[in-house]
Amino acid sequence: MDISVVVPLFNEDESLPELAAWIERVMKENGFTYEVVFVDDGSRDKSWRVIRELNAKNPCFRGIRFRRNYGKSAALQTGFEAVEGNVVITMDADMQDSPDEIPALYKMITEEGYDVVSGWKKKRYDPISKTLPTKLFNWAVRRMSKIQLHDFNCGLKAYRRDVVKSIEVYGEMHRFIPVIAKWAGFGIIGEKAVQHRARKYGTTKFGMNRFINGFLDLLSLSFVGRFS
Ligand code: UDP
Ligand code: MG
Repeated sequence: MDISVVVPLFNEDESLPELAAWIERVMKENGFTYEVVFVDDGSRDKSWRVIRELNAKNPCFRGIRFRRNYGKSAALQTGFEAVEGNVVITMDADMQDSPDEIPALYKMITEEGYDVVSGWKKKRYDPISKTLPTKLFNWAVRRMSKIQLHDFNCGLKAYRRDVVKSIEVYGEMHRFIPVIAKWAGFGIIGEKAVQHRARKYGTTKFGMNRFINGFLDLLSLSFVGRFS
């Protein structure tokens, strides 16, 4: 199988049909063999029902359901354990990430030799209350990790399969996956400027405390990094 797409989601029933149709179109146009693993992180809306309907229409769409909300990191990790594709692409469910980026990301892994390619939301469609602390966060992670990425926390990323099978993402560590990958010995990390879109449905699942959590995690990571 060429590609596994992992989509972590929490209460995203409105966008799932559109997202699934878009991914399906891109895969067909490019002749990829694929699966999409939707990881329902304890949604309380109709997300799980939608995933079951998608699966009934196209078995390439699979679903995993958590009994309660465990967080994006746990959802990604569970998706990583389930995937079979040679290239694994993660994507948010809210359609802020564009499936049209998939072919170029795939090529960077299979032809250009990258272990990880991280999306870079060069032009963002988010409020300044989010973009400003994000800039500071990225600067700090760059300094700590010596990985020259502009945008560590972009939901859209591509990995060689070995990478996702060798790392463990837990807690709130989804913000640092390139750092975890580098520490696991996957040092060829690239970046691709990707289209970013405003959230079409629903609202963000992370409040302002994301920044406090992010910086606290960064502190503990840099401590671990110093002694590992
Ligand atoms: N998400 C999740 N579990 C959570 C919080 C978020 O699976 O506890 C998913 C969410 O449904 C979306 C992705 O993670 O698919 C990114 O979340 P969101 O769009 O709210 O974050 P933002 O774009 O504001 O950083
Ligand atoms: Mg979002």
